[in-house]
Amino acid sequence: MSHLRIALLPGDGIGPEVTHAAVKVLEAVEVYSDDLVFEFETYSVGAGEFLQSGNPLPPEALAKASRCDAILLGAMGLPQVRWPNGTEMAPQIDIREQLDLYQGIRPVRLYQESLTPLKGQSADSIDFVLYRENTEGLFAERKARHALDAEFVENAMRITRFGAERIVRAAFAEASLRKGKLTLVDKANVLPAMAFFREVFDGIAEEHPNIEVERVYVDAAALYLVQQPERFDVMVTENMFGDILSDLAAGIVGGMGLAPSADIGEEYAVFQPAHGSAPDIAGQGIANPLATILSAAMMLDWLDLRASGDAIRDAVERALSDPDCRTRDLGGAMTCSEMTEQVIRNL
Ligand code: ATP
Repeated sequence: MSHLRIALLPGDGIGPEVTHAAVKVLEAVEVYSDDLVFEFETYSVGAGEFLQSGNPLPPEALAKASRCDAILLGAMGLPQVRWPNGTEMAPQIDIREQLDLYQGIRPVRLYQESLTPLKGQSADSIDFVLYRENTEGLFAERKARHALDAEFVENAMRITRFGAERIVRAAFAEASLRKGKLTLVDKANVLPAMAFFREVFDGIAEEHPNIEVERVYVDAAALYLVQQPERFDVMVTENMFGDILSDLAAGIVGGMGLAPSADIGEEYAVFQPAHGSAPDIAGQGIANPLATILSAAMMLDWLDLRASGDAIRDAVERALSDPDCRTRDLGGAMTCSEMTEQVIRNL
């Protein structure tokens, strides 16, 4: 019997709605399985928590959550709740840093031809994974403060050999399990920090003669994602480039409502939809839960329950094969709970 403790951090905006949906699907997986028991523990983290307690990430909440077997997170941050320097509360980024979740993994898969805005793509013709370095890069100075009367503000891109090596190695390992191709995305022609990232990549590439490698500048990568997305298998890049390209990648397979993600380190892992708290649609019951449900599937993979993860992905694929099974972001009229029911029915 596998008894798994899952920490839930529902967060802000649509976070609680989509987390609830994923829990419903996990409970259905539990019913179909002979030897799986989930125990859910919910902790309050996010902009809402800041308004209550003055701290968006209470240390006891993270300490307790990190003692669970895995963490499932909804979404965090609200536009009207900001730090004095103007930035939004982003405890999900603090969690990545504090738990050293250096691998930001964003699978991008086209489930149905009708979901892409691109012409001529068939289902599964777009199927790649983006590896985003999660702990340094252009996000490294996100907490820097500036004086009110500052004349300029500078944020450096920090690339360490240690940080670059470990994300590149993780991406090579993933490529060897997939189609065997790895694309480095950088801006090595302009930024010295990116030239350094490429140097580290090149060194590790020599250890992997069986992997086909290509090196693409980030601007060209944006173009290829739209014109030839089928060329990609695994991509690896720094933090900010990964942040931007993963939204673009989500856009070519149906949007943020279909984009799962995992943040993984050596010891801990957090699974969450790639989208934010979507305050414009929060509380209306119309959020698309599939990104969170697919993130829960990634969580099961990480917990060595790959068959159950596959079962969820298959159920999502079957649900989406019905053209009427669409939430509003996908051009349909289904609510969050109706979509969740469809997935459960297809499990
Ligand atoms: P962040 O910076 O935290 O990623 P954001 O403000 O850039 O957040 P999102 O909160 O992801 O962006 O929202 C971007 C747009 O996508 C909004 O219009 C939102 O309503 C829509 N959106 C995001 N997630 C979903 C979802 N699960 N279902 C439907 N629409 C969504």
